[in-house]
Amino acid sequence: VARKRFGQHFLTDDAVIDDIVRCINPLPGQALVEIGPGLGAMTFPLLQRCQALTVIELDRDLAARLRKQAGLNVIEADVLNVDFAALADAAGQPLRVVGNLPYNISTPILFHLLGVFGRVQDQHFMLQKEVVDRMAAAPGNKDYGRLSVMLQWRYRIENVLDVPPEAFDPPPRVDSAIVRMEPLPADDGVDGARLGELVAVAFSQRRKILRGTLGRWIAQQGLEVDFDLQRRAEEVPVAEYLALARTAKTAQA
Ligand code: SAM
Repeated sequence: VARKRFGQHFLTDDAVIDDIVRCINPLPGQALVEIGPGLGAMTFPLLQRCQALTVIELDRDLAARLRKQAGLNVIEADVLNVDFAALADAAGQPLRVVGNLPYNISTPILFHLLGVFGRVQDQHFMLQKEVVDRMAAAPGNKDYGRLSVMLQWRYRIENVLDVPPEAFDPPPRVDSAIVRMEPLPADDGVDGARLGELVAVAFSQRRKILRGTLGRWIAQQGLEVDFDLQRRAEEVPVAEYLALARTAKTAQA
């Protein structure tokens, strides 16, 4: 029986599972880490392709079942407490992180991994389609917001597959999609906390022009910047938010 508090929706559609594994394209010798393997719907096809896999599962009963399978390194833990940098060190190479995530904690998981983006080769996650739309949105799009800016700062993001509720048991109430996230070359000079702060301010009133929100913040920080405040937050490209965060960091130092 699926445990609701763990966000358990198990993939049962073999064609969808095949498609996902093809998108991931795992190869022997790579350091794959699966978050929330559950009953192993993705785990076993992945294992066939790459021979060894680390899995992180919070549910004690599911973890115990998986431990019986050769080739699996089972970590029974809350993924939010897992030190991915240590996993990458142990593997001696960047990680490939995959998973059909528990939707109730998908944003905290994304931000947990954002902190170790340099130790990751790529990420493929099943998420609510609505969340994938927000992650991948371009400026001018109604879905463009804080999540888009914070994640596009560090990753190239792409929706690679839409997945309907019927592919799961029990079916979730929402549409799902597989997102691919590829870390960008490290971008120096942007402090994540500063960026998070100014993006929160900018999007606090997304219908209004930025003069009253971000404009006030810029003035409070005593920044001298050339920034068009006649726009709304959703019209400003990621690169401009990053440039502002760099200036704000210097000003604070
Ligand atoms: N991968 C399986 C599949 O596709 O059929 C199961 C996916 S299910 C949506 C999410 C899985 O994540 C469940 O097995 C659940 O027990 C596990 N899980 C939930 N919260 C977790 C957490 N905080 N840390 C690690 N695993 C968690």
